[in-house]
Amino acid sequence: MNFWFATNNEHKRKELQAILGGILIHIPRDRGLSFDPEETGTTFVENALIKARALYELVKEPVIADDSGLCVDALGGRPGIHSARYGEKEGKKLDSHERNQLLLAEMAGIQDRRAHFVCAMVLYFGRDRFYLVQETLEGELATEERGNGGFGYDPILYLPQYGKTVAELSEEEKNRISHRGKAGRILRQILEQV
Ligand code: IMP
Repeated sequence: MNFWFATNNEHKRKELQAILGGILIHIPRDRGLSFDPEETGTTFVENALIKARALYELVKEPVIADDSGLCVDALGGRPGIHSARYGEKEGKKLDSHERNQLLLAEMAGIQDRRAHFVCAMVLYFGRDRFYLVQETLEGELATEERGNGGFGYDPILYLPQYGKTVAELSEEEKNRISHRGKAGRILRQILEQV
């Protein structure tokens, strides 16, 4: 069975494809579909469901959607569901490096560095039939960017148990411990049973 993944983010697709193994996923761009639903939810779960429903309405085939972000304890969980848009001004988006620098500047001098990635993921078969899971990857906000792997905030989430940022992990290491890896493997197990 083939699945759609409700994203335009090639990094996320690559990670999820590796996590799901033989279960092939398509993203809207593969078939020339334009996909940009408004993420009006107030939680990761609501936004994952919004993306899943929107893509399902387009393709009428099973969909996987995720909504993810970085939550910083000292900032009350920000940027959280707004992670992709953090620092955006008048519709002008920052790139990942600019976002990371802005967040490090906002956190300058703050002692409590606890932060975690969140991934809400839904396996969606239709309006009334879906499976939802939410997972985390706990770490600490670094004081500078380190590493070239991964994407987004990976260079600034430091994992004390590895002595590395997420961007310094190999792809396999990241998938083994990440919010998206853990959520994706749970959905893979569900898929093997339904
Ligand atoms: P989404 O596409 O609305 O889920 O936006 C998620 C945003 O959160 C991304 O654009 C990244 O900035 C950030 N993010 C989510 N997952 C990760 C990750 O695994 N590593 C680094 N940043 C992430």
